[in-house]
Amino acid sequence: MLLADVLAALERDWPARLAEPWDAVGLVVGDPADDVQHVHFAVDPVEEVVAEALAAGAQLLVTHHPLYLRGTTSVAATTPKGRVVQALARGGCALLVAHTNADRAAHGVNAALAGLLGLQGAVPLEPLPGEPLDRLGVYVPVADAARLRDALHGAGAGAAGAYDSCSWSVTGEGRYRPLEGSHPAVGAHGRLEVAAEARVEVVLPRALRPQVLAAMRAAHPYEVVAHDVVELAVEPQATGLGRVGDLPEPVRLGALAERVAQLLPATAWGVRVRGDRDRLVRRLAVCGGAGDSLLVAVARTGADAFLTSDLRHHPAQEAAEDLALLDAAHWATEWPWLPVAAGRLADATGLATSVSRLVTDPFSPRATPDPMDRGPA
Ligand SMILES: [Zn+2]
Repeated sequence: MLLADVLAALERDWPARLAEPWDAVGLVVGDPADDVQHVHFAVDPVEEVVAEALAAGAQLLVTHHPLYLRGTTSVAATTPKGRVVQALARGGCALLVAHTNADRAAHGVNAALAGLLGLQGAVPLEPLPGEPLDRLGVYVPVADAARLRDALHGAGAGAAGAYDSCSWSVTGEGRYRPLEGSHPAVGAHGRLEVAAEARVEVVLPRALRPQVLAAMRAAHPYEVVAHDVVELAVEPQATGLGRVGDLPEPVRLGALAERVAQLLPATAWGVRVRGDRDRLVRRLAVCGGAGDSLLVAVARTGADAFLTSDLRHHPAQEAAEDLALLDAAHWATEWPWLPVAAGRLADATGLATSVSRLVTDPFSPRATPDPMDRGPA
């Protein structure tokens, strides 16, 4: 399969448009014209992972974290990142990054973490707003309704998901009296006209309103077109950062921390806990990767606890008092996405896939003196 076709399949699941403006997602190394048979998935694009991908026989490595987030002037093998580029190029393996687009996607990093914990009714903590839509209703002689519908659809109205040419109609009687100076298509000056008319309704992206109204006027037989435009409420989408949902059954915080530690891949970091270990947790918020920017949003959801990583001292100390915190290793909270992503690509394309087993959390085993032995000196 051509790399270009694999990229198109990946783009359907992790659209680049979902990424933050500061992010660097997409193809980093490789030629879209190259052939791909095996795709390897990992969190970090580091040298050991490239070696793992090449040993697995991969022609494409997909990582969550970007290789270069800021500009570079060299890909020489004199830096760790340069060696990653050289090893990939020499090994005939492309590199694709799916970062904040994978965080926000409907089947992305946060959805995978919520799925791992069995959260029910999970919704994004920070849903991306849906596209602003208008609804247009227009009255037209029944005989001209089909032509008007075609014109509205041609201008981009009436598309919904994987459907186009969507409209709704009802027929009735329209009344009007043409006055001096009018040029009625049907009827005569001074006489009340009763016309068989249809009301045609279509939904359209708000950005297309000028061209849809222009198409309506161009295709309509009447001099004055009776119509109305209603701005629809913007509905939140299934995409966005974080997830919040209900655990299958309430569980004590201490037991939840143990379960999280069992479900996530093991790291030296483990799972740190803030809160009374005996308190019950029903509603759980999660955010793979660094999540302290979401603490305020989490507090508004009524969550009992928040599982994330990279929680800093002050945000953790200042978080809402009744919100328990579970802080796991950054890498571990993002890893559960890898098997989901690999499985979806394999299902969509039939390609062979594999998932990294290397722990690329930067911290190795830690020194852990018993905190009760001594306080700060
Ligand atoms: Zn991350």
